[in-house]
Amino acid sequence: MGERRWIYAIFINVGGTIFQTRMSTLKKIPDSRLGRLSPASPEYNAETDEYFFDHSPVLFNEILDLYRTGELHLPSHCCGAVVQKELEYWKIPKCLISECCIHSYHRFINDQNTIQSIRESFEDNVLDYTPAECRNSQLKRFFRSIWITLDQPKSSTCAKIFNALYLVLVLISVLVFLLSYQPYCRNQTMTFQELIYRKNYSTASLYRTVNLDNDKQVMFLTTEVHPVLDNIDLFCIAFFTIELLAHFLTCPQKLKFFTYVLNVLDMYLVVVMWTTFAIETQMEKYLDDLKMINFYSVLKASLVLRLLRFFRLMKQFSALKILFMSLKASIKELLLLFITFLLASIFFASFMYFAEFDKQDVFPTIIESMWWAIITMTTVGYGDMYPTSFPGKLVGIACAASGIVIIAMPIAVVAANFSEYYLKNSERRLRGRLMKSKKKKQSCCSWGNPPQINDYGSSPPSPRNLLKRQNSKLTGINAPSAKANGSAKKQKGKKGKNLPNGVRSRETPSSAISRKSVGEKHGIWYDVPDLPV
Ligand SMILES: [Zn+2]
Repeated sequence: MGERRWIYAIFINVGGTIFQTRMSTLKKIPDSRLGRLSPASPEYNAETDEYFFDHSPVLFNEILDLYRTGELHLPSHCCGAVVQKELEYWKIPKCLISECCIHSYHRFINDQNTIQSIRESFEDNVLDYTPAECRNSQLKRFFRSIWITLDQPKSSTCAKIFNALYLVLVLISVLVFLLSYQPYCRNQTMTFQELIYRKNYSTASLYRTVNLDNDKQVMFLTTEVHPVLDNIDLFCIAFFTIELLAHFLTCPQKLKFFTYVLNVLDMYLVVVMWTTFAIETQMEKYLDDLKMINFYSVLKASLVLRLLRFFRLMKQFSALKILFMSLKASIKELLLLFITFLLASIFFASFMYFAEFDKQDVFPTIIESMWWAIITMTTVGYGDMYPTSFPGKLVGIACAASGIVIIAMPIAVVAANFSEYYLKNSERRLRGRLMKSKKKKQSCCSWGNPPQINDYGSSPPSPRNLLKRQNSKLTGINAPSAKANGSAKKQKGKKGKNLPNGVRSRETPSSAISRKSVGEKHGIWYDVPDLPV
C-alpha cells in the first residue's frame, strides 16, 4: 500500500483548487511542509483521498514547480510580502528563490528596512512626561504644557506661533551677524591717523599687531557695530537664553536633554554669545595679547553655527529629516567616495610631480600636487597650478576624466537613497491620512482588529470546502501551524491500516487541550470546544 502511494498521483487541495503530483516529487524537499506529507498528516482527508490546505492557491503552481524542477521562479508583479508569507507557510528556505526572481523579494526587504527606520525616527523619538507623573502634580502639568509648546512645534496654535517667532528671531540674528561685518553698518570710532598713532605708541597688542594694509583689520579696529544692530543682537541673545533655560528646566529627563545635538549646540551658542558680548564691551582690556585675539576670532567665527538652529525646522518639515536620514543610509557610499578620491588624488599627484619634475615653480611637492589633483577631479580648476609639459598634460587629462567617474557613481546611489526615503515618507504620510479618515468612519469595515481567523487571503469557498471549514472551525485548525483537524481525527480509527511503515499518528488523548492552546497562541478568539472522542 505504501509503495503504491509513493508512485501514484496524489491530490492536493489548496483553497479549493485541486493540484495533482506524486509523493516522490514532494519528497525532494523533505523538510518542507509538503515534503512531510503522509496519510498520517492532519491535512489528509481519507474520504476524498486528498490533502487539504486552507490557503490561497495563487502562488501554488510556482511552489509545485519548485519541487518538479528545483527552481523557484516568481511572477514579476508579486509583492515581496506575499512571497515571504508563502515561503514561510510552505516552510521552504528562501535561498531556493532563483537568482533571476529574487529582485522583488530583495526590494521588499529593503523597503521594510527603510520604512522601519523612518518610523523609528519619526515616532519613537518623542520625550514626554508620563501620564502618572502629570496626574499627581499640578506643577508637572504646567511644566509639561511648556515643554510640549517648546518641543513640539505642531502641538497647538500657541506652539505654532512660538515656533514661528523663534524662527524669525533665528533669521534676524543671522542677518545681524552678517550685517555687523558690512562697513556701512558700522560707526566710525577713530580715524586712520589715530590708528597709526596707536600702532606706534600704544602698549595694547591689539593695536601693535594690526596690519595697516589689511582693510578688514583696519575696519574692525576703527569702527564699531551700529548700536541698533547691537541692541537687536542683545535681545536675540536674551531670548535664546531664556528659551534654553525654559527648555531645560521643563525637560522630563534632564540627562536625555544633552543627548540632542541641537540642544548642546544651543548651550554652546548661548555661552559664546555672552562671552563675545562681554569681550566687546571692553575690547582693549581683554584683547591685550595675541592669544586672546586669536581666541576671540575663533569664538566669533563659531557664532555662524547659529545657522544650524534652522534644523529645528526638521520637526516641521519632514523632508529635511529625510535628507539627513538618506545621508546616514548612504554613509558607506560616501566613505567609498572619500577613499577612492583620496587614493586617486595621491596617484595623480605623484604622477604629476614626476611628469613636471624639471619645471621650476609648479608642483613643488607631492602633497601640494594633491591639492591640484583634488581641484581638478572636482572639476573646479582654480588654475593656480597647471601642467605645461606634454606628459604633465596627459596626466591632467586622465585626472580630470577619472574625477568625473569617481564622483558620479557613488553620488547616484546617494541620490537614489534620498528618492527612496522621500517616496516612502510620502507613502507613510498618505497612510497616516487614510488611517485618520478610517478612524472617523470606523464602522465601514468589520476586519482589522482583533486578529483574524484567516488573515491569509482565501479563495471563495467551494461547497465541499465550506463543510471542511465548518468542521475545522470547530476544532480550531485554521491557524497556519495548527496540527490537528477533523480528518486526522478520523485517521485515528484507521490507525495501522492507512499509515505507511514507521509513521505514527501524532494524535494523543490530550490533543484536544493542546489544540485549544494552539488556537489561543495564534490569536484565534473563538471558543474551542472539546472534541468527542
Ligand atoms: Zn526567475
